[in-house]
Amino acid sequence: MGGQFDMAVVGGGPGGYVAALRGRQLGLTVALVEKERVGGVCLNRGCIPTKTLFADVEGLLWCRRAARDGIIDREPLHDFSRMMSRKTKVVESLVSNLEKLIESSGIKLFRGCGRIPEPGIVLSDTGDTIHAKSLVIATGSRSRIPPIPGADLPGVVTTRQILSIETVPKQLIIIGGGVIGQEFAGIFSALGVKVTILEALDRILNEADAEIARRYAGLIQGRGITTETGAFVRVIERTDRGLRVVYEKRGKEKIAESDLVLLATGRAPFLQGLLGDGLDLLMRNGALDVDDHLRTSVEGIYAIGDVIGRKMLAHVASYHGELVAENLAGDDKAVDEMAVPGCVFTSPQIAWVGLTEEEASRLGRPFRTSVLSLSASGKALAMGEPRGLFKLIEDSETGNLVGAHLIGPQVSELIGELTLAVAKSLSVKDIAHTIHAHPTLAETMKETALGFFDGPIHAAARVKSVPGTTEG
Ligand code: NAD
Repeated sequence: MGGQFDMAVVGGGPGGYVAALRGRQLGLTVALVEKERVGGVCLNRGCIPTKTLFADVEGLLWCRRAARDGIIDREPLHDFSRMMSRKTKVVESLVSNLEKLIESSGIKLFRGCGRIPEPGIVLSDTGDTIHAKSLVIATGSRSRIPPIPGADLPGVVTTRQILSIETVPKQLIIIGGGVIGQEFAGIFSALGVKVTILEALDRILNEADAEIARRYAGLIQGRGITTETGAFVRVIERTDRGLRVVYEKRGKEKIAESDLVLLATGRAPFLQGLLGDGLDLLMRNGALDVDDHLRTSVEGIYAIGDVIGRKMLAHVASYHGELVAENLAGDDKAVDEMAVPGCVFTSPQIAWVGLTEEEASRLGRPFRTSVLSLSASGKALAMGEPRGLFKLIEDSETGNLVGAHLIGPQVSELIGELTLAVAKSLSVKDIAHTIHAHPTLAETMKETALGFFDGPIHAAARVKSVPGTTEG
């Protein structure tokens, strides 16, 4: 069995399934090969399950605040097994709807593990031979297991494994203070777990703007999360009491103990068993190397999403998937990743797009920043969540918005406007002069933009001008 297609996609995550669906929309014949359920890490064991747990935890946090304010008369209790079964139901509903969509769109879904022996052919381990003019590799990534002795001990888990635990640990050590580490720390600390984050760098959330990451670190103090930066984990050991993590900080050996250790030390492109021996695709740092049209070094083979090792985000993979399908249907678009939003689902949330202040400084062009606290926002106060900060970065020569960094409630829903502004080279004046609905958190974006001119109406913004260091 098998067949002949215009496009064969290996991997059915948010990169691969979007490529396949977009290809069908444009009239291509499409095969999709997937070894597990469609939806990839994002739907099955990443974005969606974690955001479902996060939504429950936000409810808990809200009830706790209401109890503190005397609005409800007792502290809320939680039922972890119900949270986990709601998470499973949400995933199941989304994945089964996606399967129906794939089926009804006319994509031929091969449920098996794909291997590419040569250009134009995918072999599935279920015995199918699929021929296609173009192949798209969308095999994603897997947790990077750090070379720490003891990382394979029982009780040391990846993000995939922690999403199927049955009981809440008393204490949790998270190795890695990036996005994944912070999101899980937020979920488990809200469930009463004592969390310790061990981060090798001297700061957490390395991708975020440093000022925003510092603000977040300050806000989570006293919430049952201990963060150790500059912490180099040496070994994980099993003891009578559970797990002991030995780490070094400023030349001193330190110890943290817990009943569960989560490895959140990044993700690595997944290519295991995919490429035939004779197929020599150019690699870069363990990822498939592609050009600006997402073409690998072998004609007719494309690669998208996490497997190319750039920004490992579901929405970037989906963007790649659309672009490749459109190019295969006759378009000629190059990848443009200047305006990729990033979101961290913690309390409060963090979201950004474009350059951080540190990146803007490194570029050497003159820029200005305007920073405004959320404390003057009527909506934030009404929501009981005024602890946030909005920061916009303007290119001083063009007046364009080149970066935006938000920390506050629901900012993942606000970053879209600023992403559009960066993507379409809009100016900070465009944002300042656009009517924003009242009372909303979005008004604070307009107010922050007003900081570049006569100042916001309701509060004072902190504005800074940074001269360029390069000529021209
Ligand atoms: P990351 O690279 O963001 O963070 C990993 C952290 O672990 C780094 O800060 C690194 O310095 C630290 N680290 C590595 N080895 C260490 C060691 N031995 N000891 C101590 N610290 C160590 O990776 P992540 O948080 O695992 O996330 C993986 C990818 O998934 C990222 O690209 C992330 O953006 C993406 N992701 C995105 C979202 C989202 O959009 N909300 C959610 C989850 C994951």
